[in-house]
Amino acid sequence: MDRTAVTTEAPKSPWGSGTPAVPACSLTDVMSEQLARQLDEESNAFPALTDVTTLLFPDESPDTTSDLMLAQILQMQFDREFDDQLRREEKKFNGDSKVSISFENYRMVHPYEDSDSSEDEVDWQDTRHDPYRAEKPQATPRKGFTGKGKNITTKHDEVTCGRKNTARMDNFAPEVHVGDGLGMDLKLSNQVFNSLKQHCSSEQRRSARLHEKKEHSTAEQAVDPRTRLLMYKMVNAGVLENINGCISTGKESVVFHADGGSLEEQPIPDEVVLKVFKTTLNEFKNRDRYIKDDYRFIDRFSKLNPRKIIRLWAEKEMHNLTRMKRAEIPCPEVVLLKKHILVMSFIGKDHVPAPKLKDAMLGSEVIKNAYYQVLHMMQQLYQECNLVHADLSEYNMLWHEGKVWLIDVSQSVEPTHPHGLEFLFRDCRNVSTFFQKRGVSEAMSVYDLFNAVTGLNIPVGAENEAEFIAEIVALEKRNEGHVQRRGKKTFQVVSEDAGPPLKPDADD
Ligand code: ADP
Ligand code: MG
Repeated sequence: MDRTAVTTEAPKSPWGSGTPAVPACSLTDVMSEQLARQLDEESNAFPALTDVTTLLFPDESPDTTSDLMLAQILQMQFDREFDDQLRREEKKFNGDSKVSISFENYRMVHPYEDSDSSEDEVDWQDTRHDPYRAEKPQATPRKGFTGKGKNITTKHDEVTCGRKNTARMDNFAPEVHVGDGLGMDLKLSNQVFNSLKQHCSSEQRRSARLHEKKEHSTAEQAVDPRTRLLMYKMVNAGVLENINGCISTGKESVVFHADGGSLEEQPIPDEVVLKVFKTTLNEFKNRDRYIKDDYRFIDRFSKLNPRKIIRLWAEKEMHNLTRMKRAEIPCPEVVLLKKHILVMSFIGKDHVPAPKLKDAMLGSEVIKNAYYQVLHMMQQLYQECNLVHADLSEYNMLWHEGKVWLIDVSQSVEPTHPHGLEFLFRDCRNVSTFFQKRGVSEAMSVYDLFNAVTGLNIPVGAENEAEFIAEIVALEKRNEGHVQRRGKKTFQVVSEDAGPPLKPDADD
């Protein structure tokens, strides 16, 4: 057989003529065609691919230019299949069991798939498009206006200003509720904005003031920071175990209850009080005469600043208590004096202070007994301690363990004080009146009591108070002259002040 004929002519098939042969083409053509078919087949193998993209980006034509995007889309498809599989397994695993185990945690969560939750959580505050915020007002350029010709808008433009003012409300204090303006194009006029701003700042000042007042009204705030520091120092030093609370807040002092600690050289009672003399001076101004004319303090008084004068009160109370204790008059025992804080023993038990005589419920026999105690105490105070209480009343006597206890002696003076006898007369009147009112028939009249305490014999006469007082004043005058001329006192004086020398504190 001729080999050339075979190659040039169409071969004759024994089964008849076949279909015309496909024209020959180059290898590259064949290859590219194959590639095209292959690609086509591949795309048919993943029919959901386009679905996913249209699902994800409904408005956009699928962007297949990015490899990353394609990879992500494919990954998502894979994840979905995985999840479907998981759900099937979960169903099979749990069956009809009432207790089911969730495979939810194994589910693939794609960063941009979980649209339900992310939409709610989106923090629009951080985005540029805050739906609740009015569009930021346009800034006016430096030249002060925008636009041209007829359309010029200056920075004073009503709308622009209004929007600016609305935006400025954000700067109000956080507690001021400015509303959320929910996408409203709010425009506040300057006048409205200014009065709102003014209201906000005055409200803020008011609430600050109220808050401060509330804080300062507590007992501990009744003492100034310096005093508080002193009190804490006493606790730190172990003198006090604990400061428990306030017993009384008076005009001139605040009294605290405290548990006693320990001092090396001196035992401290289990329960003590801290009498803090107030450093607010207004009230003490009226009491100057109790200390100014007390010759024990006369040299120092004029040289001291008001804060140091307050310390004199504490010091005076300490000296007076010491004298009283020596005469065995029931009174608090001095523990410690630190500047204007006097620590003394507590009259009472288990944190409960003894009642004032005015509050104590006493039977008629007991109140009579109390009266004689007071009478005796006043005599002791005058004759043994050389003191006049000068504020003696049922408010400054406590009833404790069947005894009357004298307290509050910071203002007590010696009888030779220029007004000492007048103070005593007042004390006598308080005592007489109180016990007479309480039905103590033995209670002497104020005149008899005065004479009984002093040992003087001022004639009672027609019971004319003015006459009696005139007699007292004359006595005071005579005594004053006597003191000045001879340095001696005409009143009967048993003891001298033996307290420690009074030196101003060196540390301030
Ligand atoms: P003020 O000068 O403020 O009247 P006081 O010395 O009278 O000061 O004390 C005020 C109140 O504190 C008293 O009425 C009393 O109830 C209570 N108090 C003072 N000292 C003591 C004390 N040592 N023990 C118990 N209570 C006291
Ligand atoms: Mg008092």
